[in-house]
Amino acid sequence: MGLELVENLLEVFTAEDPMAFDHPQGDPWSDFREIMRVEWKVEFKYRHVLGKYSKFFIELANHRFLATECGNCGKVWAIPRPLCPDCLHVTTWKELPGTGTLESFSVSYFVPAFMKVETPYVLAMVKLDGADTLFTHQLRNYGDLEKIKVGMPVKVAYTVEKVSHPMLLMWFEPA
Ligand SMILES: [Zn+2]
Repeated sequence: MGLELVENLLEVFTAEDPMAFDHPQGDPWSDFREIMRVEWKVEFKYRHVLGKYSKFFIELANHRFLATECGNCGKVWAIPRPLCPDCLHVTTWKELPGTGTLESFSVSYFVPAFMKVETPYVLAMVKLDGADTLFTHQLRNYGDLEKIKVGMPVKVAYTVEKVSHPMLLMWFEPA
């Protein structure tokens, strides 16, 4: 018996030194150049609970944009925070109009394949009207990259198509 016991075996091979140069005392990894390659099929589903942030996503599906407001210090958090990061008081939900100002942005010409989005991908940091914080999300429907300017008015837009993650229920676009 031997390697036939490994049903997912692809090959056993001897690896070259990928950093080939002269080793004064010889290849220090010579005892470890025999390599086994196997094929391992992995498939799993991941259940993710959105916890105290759930209402934000539930209302995004209703085309409403919610922040949270701290009743103690008055700060309005968007991204919502169930607990005020500044003073540690429990916050309450507050609907915002979904309009705001582009404070900063980044243009990506390469994105991970799993994202399944077109490039260039524009990530926008937006100060929403009524909020004290910045909210980061994708900017779409901007037309031409040259038209994107810091300070321009933007708004939250909502999908009418099914999405693969609740975060994709919204994006930003020029107002
Ligand atoms: Zn607070």
